[in-house]
Amino acid sequence: MKETVATIRKTSLESIEKATSMQEIEEIRIKLLGKKGEITELSKQMKGLSQEERPLFGQTLNELRDVVTINLETKKEELKNIEKNIRISKEVLDITLPGRGIEVGREHPITETTTFLKEIFLNMGFDISEGPEIEKTEYNFDALNIPEAHPSRDWQDTFYIKENEVLRTHTSPVQVRYMLENKPPFRMICPGKVYRSDYDVSHTPMFHQLEGLMVGDNVSFANLKAILTEFVKKVFGETKVRFRPHFFPFTEPSAEMDVECVICKGDGCRLCKNSGWLEIMGCGMVDPEVLKAVGYDPEEYTGFAFGMGLERVTMLRHGIDDLRAFFENDVRFLRQFK
Ligand SMILES: [Zn+2]
Repeated sequence: MKETVATIRKTSLESIEKATSMQEIEEIRIKLLGKKGEITELSKQMKGLSQEERPLFGQTLNELRDVVTINLETKKEELKNIEKNIRISKEVLDITLPGRGIEVGREHPITETTTFLKEIFLNMGFDISEGPEIEKTEYNFDALNIPEAHPSRDWQDTFYIKENEVLRTHTSPVQVRYMLENKPPFRMICPGKVYRSDYDVSHTPMFHQLEGLMVGDNVSFANLKAILTEFVKKVFGETKVRFRPHFFPFTEPSAEMDVECVICKGDGCRLCKNSGWLEIMGCGMVDPEVLKAVGYDPEEYTGFAFGMGLERVTMLRHGIDDLRAFFENDVRFLRQFK
């Protein structure tokens, strides 16, 4: 019996060692440990042994089973590794392929311009205020001296939400809200999105404005000129400016401010339509009616207001000629701005 065990042990370990596939390993396992396997058959012979022989034989058999099992498992692992290495060597990694770069995002040019302009006004002591984009007609029109019959109230220009609620058509209602909450003297700007139902080369239904207001004891047109000229110089560098008389319902007197053409420096080109000047913003002294509407005494306080389109300023800063490019989200367009 002992010899049989020794023989099985020797031959089985040899055949495990020689095995070259998982299938072979499985066949050896069945041959030894299966229902009719050699080791299984041996254990059935235990019955025919004497009481004294049985424990020793049982132990020998257990040892044999353990050795065979361990060797089978070890060989299995070995074969698995070999298979894996063969597979890896077949799936060659081509390290000459270029890697995928990480896309770096950029600030939208309008956002960049807005931040830039805000910084300039902050340095000149202006406060920054924001308000809702859905606005009461009372703040969007009435408080700003825009009469019921004014064309800007038309359904064609204004997006009405309800009869007395609109998508704000300018950021001026933020100034009304600011005036109701603050007492002069103050200086503030309100940048933000505004909405009008227009769409062509120079109009989009949503665009950005930056308006400003300065109210105090002796605020005059001279202050307006000084501050706005200083502002334009900070944006476009040393350049000529001019003020042309204009009309706005909420300021009196009103003016349009022009800056010398950034392209031709006054000689005349396509951008400035050969005038040598580019319109940059509207401005004027706050109409006493507007001050009264928010409870200020126009005898005590005066002020000036101004407003500009942030798309327009961005276009002039970067020489862009189609407003719609800002909203088409063409990554190639956005990538040009650093
Ligand atoms: Zn020009």
